[in-house]
Amino acid sequence: MIPLLDLKKQYETIKNEIDERLQKVISSAQYIMGEEIRILEKKMEEYIGCKYAITCANGTDALVLALHALNIGDGDEVITSPFTFFATAEAISRVGAKPVFVDIKKDTYNIDPDKIEEKINKNTKAILPVHIFGQPANMDEIMTIANKYNLYVIEDACQAIGAEYKGKKVGNIGTIGCFSFFPTKNLGAFGDGGMITTNDETLAALIKALRVHGSGELGRSAYNLINGIKEEQEENIDIEDKTVYDAAKYYNYFIGYNSRLDNIQAAILNVKIKYLDEWNASRRRLAEYYTENLKDTHLITPMVHHDVNSVFHLYILQSENRDELTLYLKEKGIATGIYYPVPLHLQNVYKNLGYQKGDLPVSEYLSCRTFAIPLYPELSKAEQDYVINAIFDFEKSR
Ligand SMILES: *Cc1c(COP(=O)(O)O)cnc(C)c1O
Repeated sequence: MIPLLDLKKQYETIKNEIDERLQKVISSAQYIMGEEIRILEKKMEEYIGCKYAITCANGTDALVLALHALNIGDGDEVITSPFTFFATAEAISRVGAKPVFVDIKKDTYNIDPDKIEEKINKNTKAILPVHIFGQPANMDEIMTIANKYNLYVIEDACQAIGAEYKGKKVGNIGTIGCFSFFPTKNLGAFGDGGMITTNDETLAALIKALRVHGSGELGRSAYNLINGIKEEQEENIDIEDKTVYDAAKYYNYFIGYNSRLDNIQAAILNVKIKYLDEWNASRRRLAEYYTENLKDTHLITPMVHHDVNSVFHLYILQSENRDELTLYLKEKGIATGIYYPVPLHLQNVYKNLGYQKGDLPVSEYLSCRTFAIPLYPELSKAEQDYVINAIFDFEKSR
């Protein structure tokens, strides 16, 4: 069986480094907000090129924390894509705001900037583009609209760590960037994990406080910053291990969350981040090989816009006979995945938003055609050829 993604294979390539580093965390007994977190956040600030990288429990929380910190809630509207993982819209609903779905472009699967302006009204607070499948959205157009209407831009970069738009890393273009370290993402932990990036000092302080119940030194520091209270101490607060007893922890300044990344997960990510660019480059090479070799089929291969560097979180094809083709591939031992079978505006949970079939025709059309085939850095050329040949065999058999 050729899986969509082979995490066991990846672990084998870095096993020694990971095991050693994990053992150190375990022996240190620093489990919460320890040294590995500090190292990871610093590395991420350098990698993304932003002033502040703040880790948290998962990508969904990253979105919720971002929206909360921007004071988006009841009565507010946030414009986003319907062609994404549910968490994108769920986070908007979670803070009490309303997701407003704008249709996507047929070639890149990203939100269509030409359709955003007509959905803006006095309640609109932000645009939340998703860099879907690893390909950056049209950020220039999105930022122009956001600036014209004074809206925040929250980038859902959960599928796109390392991707670039006109030479700039995603997550560092809008007001805030949100990332996920879910195991299947391009940079995955051994469990849940997430991160928020920003260049805004006040937002960063508030998010750091919100992820720890709005308490402790981080809470006090954010509280003072927001309320213009001068601090006597230097405000450079070090993260330290908060596993056992922290006197400051019992002083509260905001209603927040418990949304920390574990020190153990940070240790894993600190090993893996060294390989991220190499892995993303492999994904791009493998994607090019698929695209080159599938060009004589009836399938539509991914379009990569010239001013972006996609990290191919998933390799997506379009087929008119998706169900037959994916079944055929399954019989040949090739895994496929359907991203996404139901656009979010037509999900049962969002019936109350009042969308009808036909409202967002491009997303609806694509939801019946798109699917992913295996693509991961460790995929061999022989395996890729097997997938390509199976697709040709399917076409011949029809
Ligand atoms: C994975 C993902 C999320 C959520 O991340 P979790 O870490 O699973 O909470 C949000 N948005 C998109 C586009 C994703 O792919």
